[in-house]
Amino acid sequence: MKQLSTFLPPERTLMGPGPSDVSPRILNAMARPTLGHLDPLFIELMDETKSLLQYAFQTENALTMPISAPGSAGMEACFVNLVEPGDKVLVCVNGVFGNRMVENVERCGGEAIVINNQWGTQTDLNTVEDLLAKHPDIKVLAFVHAETSTGVRNDAKALCELANKYQCLTIVDAVTSLGGIELKVDDWGIDAIYSGSQKCLSCVPGISPVSFSDRAVNLIQNRKTKVQSWFLDMNLIVGYWGSGAKRAYHHTAPVNSMYAMYESLLMLREEGLENAWQRHQRGHEALAQGLEALNLTLAVDKNYRLPQLNVVEIPSGVNDADVRQRLLNEFNLEIGAGLGEFAGKVWRIGLMGYACKPRNIDHCLAALKQVLK
Ligand code: PLP
Repeated sequence: MKQLSTFLPPERTLMGPGPSDVSPRILNAMARPTLGHLDPLFIELMDETKSLLQYAFQTENALTMPISAPGSAGMEACFVNLVEPGDKVLVCVNGVFGNRMVENVERCGGEAIVINNQWGTQTDLNTVEDLLAKHPDIKVLAFVHAETSTGVRNDAKALCELANKYQCLTIVDAVTSLGGIELKVDDWGIDAIYSGSQKCLSCVPGISPVSFSDRAVNLIQNRKTKVQSWFLDMNLIVGYWGSGAKRAYHHTAPVNSMYAMYESLLMLREEGLENAWQRHQRGHEALAQGLEALNLTLAVDKNYRLPQLNVVEIPSGVNDADVRQRLLNEFNLEIGAGLGEFAGKVWRIGLMGYACKPRNIDHCLAALKQVLK
């Protein structure tokens, strides 16, 4: 039988679409003694995590908390709680994760009206407005703020303005945007939003912060049908994550991962949101300049490209997989492959959270220079 021993992973530099590099401060937080999930000290930490999340999302929403599962569970939590059979949902698709939203609507028994944007482009506001005007019974407008598969930023503020004008709710995917680019849940009037721990928050993967407006909570509390998922029914989760001293067991929280979540949000608060957004922009500009010097082209228009996820066209004649393999083996550097329609055509270079720093940018540019020579 194979002799098994402790797993000791190498120290990679993670500059793909996520997970991104986790700060040692966050990894240290995780290694602290595990508390019971109803220990009063852990409950205190839960409350502080919720208020740090309110800061990160820029919201006063009382129902703001981390779901004990990855970003896809946050997505599902928003859809299963707000979409009932027969509901119409307008979904803007700019890539893989918009398509996953459509799948969610359909699995909830809803009717998805889909705007299929060309990959690498932003959602056209006029198209959205035309459809909202044509279908006054649309209940929800759903879109991905930062589409990780294409590197495109949707104009979340303008899309929410349209949704509010036509009195429909919004579900926003902020998995890659939270902490990386401007995001203001209350000012923009977002009703349901979810994110992920592993991108610009630089936390370990597996936690999904969510937030619901009072209007959304009211709808969830007055549904005609039971939420189809027991685990993600917000009416039940609030018994554990809700406010007040009386907390009841719902599921066993990943206690140590929550220490990590808390620490990463604390780091964001210490840095300041605006400073974090600016750091990502500066990092992007330095990377873009270096890529141009290597004769590499960014695939997304400057006006709506994401600073934290840079989509680079693979030059003709260059073998995608070989380059990524060499970066990993020779430089301990991970960059992302293209997904879906972009598979084999682009690389995705992430500059997320703790990974967005000059040392990483220099390392990535120097490694690419060597490998492409
Ligand atoms: N939405 C977006 C925009 C993402 O980038 C991802 C993951 O990359 C997800 C949703 C799903 O998150 P997870 O992989 O944590 O389930």
